[in-house]
Order: sequence, then structure tokens, then C-alpha cells
Amino acid sequence: MYFKDWWIPNWGLLELMGTFLRIHNKLEFWNPRLGFADKLIFPKVQRHCISYAPEISRGKLGKNGSVRARSSALLELVPQTKKENLEFELPSYDPSKGQVVDLAVVGGGPAGLAVAQQVSEAGLSVCSIDPSPKLIWPNNYGVWVDEFEAMDLLDCLDTTWSGAVVYINDGLKKDLDRPYGRVNRKQLKSKMMQKCVSNGVKFHQAKVIKVIHEESKSLLICSDGVTIQASVVLDATGFSRCLVQYDKPYNPGYQVAYGILAEVDGHPFDVDKMVFMDWRDSHLNDDFELKERNSKIPTFLYAMPFSSNRIFLEETSLVARPGVPMEDIQERMEARLRHLGIRVKCIEEDERCVIPMGGPLPVIPQRVVGIGGTAGMVHPSTGYMVARTLAAAPMVANSIVRYLGSETRHSCNELSAGVWNDLWPIERRRQREFFCFGMDILLKLDLAATRRFFDAFFDLEPRYWHGFLSSRLFLPELLVFGLSLFAHASNTSRLEIMAKGTLPLVNMINNLIKDRD
Ligand SMILES: Cc1cc2nc3c(=O)[nH]c(=O)nc-3n(C[C@H](O)[C@H](O)[C@H](O)COP(=O)(O)OP(=O)(O)OC[C@H]3O[C@@H](n4cnc5c(N)ncnc54)[C@H](O)[C@@H]3O)c2cc1C
Repeated sequence: MYFKDWWIPNWGLLELMGTFLRIHNKLEFWNPRLGFADKLIFPKVQRHCISYAPEISRGKLGKNGSVRARSSALLELVPQTKKENLEFELPSYDPSKGQVVDLAVVGGGPAGLAVAQQVSEAGLSVCSIDPSPKLIWPNNYGVWVDEFEAMDLLDCLDTTWSGAVVYINDGLKKDLDRPYGRVNRKQLKSKMMQKCVSNGVKFHQAKVIKVIHEESKSLLICSDGVTIQASVVLDATGFSRCLVQYDKPYNPGYQVAYGILAEVDGHPFDVDKMVFMDWRDSHLNDDFELKERNSKIPTFLYAMPFSSNRIFLEETSLVARPGVPMEDIQERMEARLRHLGIRVKCIEEDERCVIPMGGPLPVIPQRVVGIGGTAGMVHPSTGYMVARTLAAAPMVANSIVRYLGSETRHSCNELSAGVWNDLWPIERRRQREFFCFGMDILLKLDLAATRRFFDAFFDLEPRYWHGFLSSRLFLPELLVFGLSLFAHASNTSRLEIMAKGTLPLVNMINNLIKDRD
């Protein structure tokens, strides 16, 4: 789920997610629509640059640990509205023809468009449905360059860094010799849309509100009253999980982050390296309350320096259950920027990010097929997904094409069962189980233990940490990875992993035993 206070079409999702989080996880989530109680330090600006005044009042903890509203000069620099659309014409779906398309793709994010593009390339009829089909995706995506290189997508990165750095603490910095890149969202979406258009994909601008299944087709009821008929329905609605069904309680961890793309007076980072994780906490030395909160549930800085005065900065809680309140994250970020001497002159974009991680997979199989956020594909220990989804899209597309084109007539249920099994074969389910085990350990680590964990993690042979982060290791290799991590860990860290990892390990083993082909 992605929230942006200037991105109007997401308000429905915001409310939905806000409600969901409050009901199911008791997460005190700050609603940016309501704003802060006493915030007008600067007049509201839109794309005007004013320096962010470093002295701001501090938040106070409420009764139940939530953070009460307080002023934020930094947030006053956030532009009120920003929507950028692609500038080409999209062929519309014509409901009056009553055509039954081969595939209806619900959701035009990276996952949905990648499949629409590839299924239409095989000559099948495809309809893509999204409330804002031309809107450039709002999320700031980062990927490892080798992941995009393997898919021949290097032209869709707008900036690359020769490597990355991880600050474990004030005295320990690790250099990661693995290039990192920022996705050029406009280029990636344009490229996919152009291919879709030339392959004959039709677009329908609406939200799907309901699906009705018949024996040989499904009917999608849209918010504008239009019904779209399709042989196969793909739910690619991200974390809103519009159509895909779950039969187990949904209990994910949450990655919560607040990011800004900003013009600054200067910053202390090397522009050739991105900052993958900065776990330093000396910026909290003057604030006992905040330091305590951070040492229990730590947040780190993720930063992409584009030049000496333009940078993307994101304060991130890797995973917590319930998620860390957004306002708490913003407060930590402000303290960090103050300490680093970063004066924000202007904010071009901001992102409020809440990513559900782990939790159960959807019911497999089921009639509606899924990909991306809706199909449990986010990496449960890292929150990353875009490269993995784009890599899985050809397989999902081939599977749909194979079943629809087969001479043997498959029922709709057989067809979707085949696609689900191709998406989540046993090796992938086992891999995910291991990643969930990783998440369960991370959920229990405080700042000191998290530092020890990543100190050992990034000391591993690159093939292990690369493979873990990019979902390239499968269960046997993951077990070797686990043992290797244990061997690299300090004695304290080993004790912690044993104490905090035993229950998750037992759960993982149970789940692996229960889940057989
Ligand atoms: C702020 C943020 C930053 C992220 N950064 C990274 C990153 O750096 N690297 C990485 O690998 N991953 C990242 N992720 C995780 C993940 O890659 C993204 O969430 C990614 O956008 C998921 O792609 P998707 O296509 O599954 O869903 P989405 O991109 O969320 O797309 C879903 C689409 O479905 C549409 N939709 C929703 N409901 C309906 C409906 N009822 N009917 C029709 N359409 C509907 C939405 O409008 C949207 O266009 C990030 C996530 C967030 C939230």
C-alpha cells in the first residue's frame, strides 16, 4: 500500500488500509489527510523552496504508545498535489461489443502491465483495468543493477551507483560491491504501455468492485457500471488485494517508511554510493524518549544521493508488528537530518510507504489468478518485490497462454490451478517459508541485535547475501546460508539467534512438513 498526501486516487486505498491497520493490527496510523493539529509554521507552499528550519517541537507519546501530533516544518515543504500522466492515447475497451476477452488484468502497476504486455504479445486479447491507467507510478523503486540487467531493462534505470554502503554504527561502515539503481518509472511504464498498445491491449479506466464466476468466463463489475467479461482474471491490485481470496488470518509484519526527494544545501554522503542502511543513532543522543523507542524498534536511513544537493532520503522501519506509526518515523528522520546538517530547501516528492510483509499466501489454487503484491510476492524479510515480480511475469504469461492455447480444453478452474502452481511451485513456497522465518527473527531484534545481525549478514560471501536479497537461493542453499550466517555471527549474536529464532524455526519446520506437493 502506498500513500502520498498529494496523490488523490489513493485516498480510497489510504482509508481502506488505515481502517484495516487499525482494526487488525491496532496500528496507530497517522492520517495525512487530517494533517497535524497545530502545524502552520510556514504558509502552505506548492513547489516553492523554503529552507527547513531545524528547530521544531517534539512529539510526545500518547497513552498507548502512539505519537501525538506535533508541528513539522519539514512537512510544510511537501508539495500539495503532484500527478504526472503519460502523454499517449490509450485504446479504450468498448463494452457495447460484449466481447469476452482472453485475459482481464485488474491493476496497472508493474506486475499487471508486465503480464498484459506478454500475454498480448502471444496474440491473445487483453483488457487492462485501472482507475488511473496513465498515471506514472508514484513509488520510488530501487533495485540491484544485476537484477535489471538479467531482464535486459538497464534502459529503465535513471541513476546507478557503483556500490552501496551500510553504516552499522558510528565506528563501522561496510562497503557493498554491488551496483544499485533507481528505476525510471516513466520510462518503464511507457515502454510497457507502448508494447501493450501495439499488441492490441484495450484499457478501461475504472475500479473493479466485484467478480462473478460462470463456468466458462468471469464477469468483472466496475465502479462505472461497466461489466467486462474474460476467460481469465488476473488480480494485480498490489497490497489492496482486491479479488484474490485468503483463508487464513492475515497477520503480516509491516515495513513503514517516510521518504522525500529533496533539494538540499548539501549532504555528507558520497554521490557514487547509495546508502542501503544507516543504523547510526547518535542523532538521538539529546532525546532520551526517541532514543529509547529507536533502540527497541529501530529505524534506518536509506538514501540515494543524485548530486551534492539533490537526494532521496527515506527513514525506514524494516519490519515491525504492529507497524511503527508514520509520525514517529518522520520525527526520527527530522532528528537525523538535523544531526547530519542536511538543510532541506525544497521537497519535490514525498512517499509514505506501508508494505505488508510475510503473512499467509492466498488460497492456492483459486479461480482468480494473481501476481505481485496481491499474490504474496513481496520479499518477507526485505519488502522488495519489483524485480522479482517482473522476472515472474513471463512465467505467469506463458502459463496463461499455454493453457488458453492448449488443444485439450481446460476448465477455467483447471487453468487457474495450473497458473497458480507455476507461480508458487513447492520450491518457491519453501523459499518464502524461509524468508518468513527470517522476518520472524528480525521482528524480535532490537537495535543492538539488528546491528550485530547485519554485521554478520554483509560479511557473508556475496553469493549468499546477493542470493538472499534477490530471491535466488532455494531451500538447500538457504540452509547453507543460515549456517554460514551463524558461523559469521558473534557469540552474542549466536545466542540471540538461538533464543529468538527457536520458535520461528519450529514454526518454519512445521509449515514445511505440512506443505507438500
Ligand atoms: C512506497 C513504496 C516503495 C516501494 N519501493 C520498492 C523498491 O524500492 N523496490 C522494490 O523492489 N519494491 C518496492 N516496493 C514494493 C513493491 O515493489 C511495490 O509495492 C510495487 O508497486 C507493487 O507492484 P504491483 O504491480 O503488485 O502493485 P501496485 O504498484 O500497487 O499497483 C496496483 C495497481 O492496481 C490498481 N488497483 C487497485 N485496486 C484496484 C481495483 N479495485 N480495480 C482496478 N485497479 C485497482 C492501483 O490503482 C494500482 O495502479 C515499494 C512499495 C511501496 C508502497
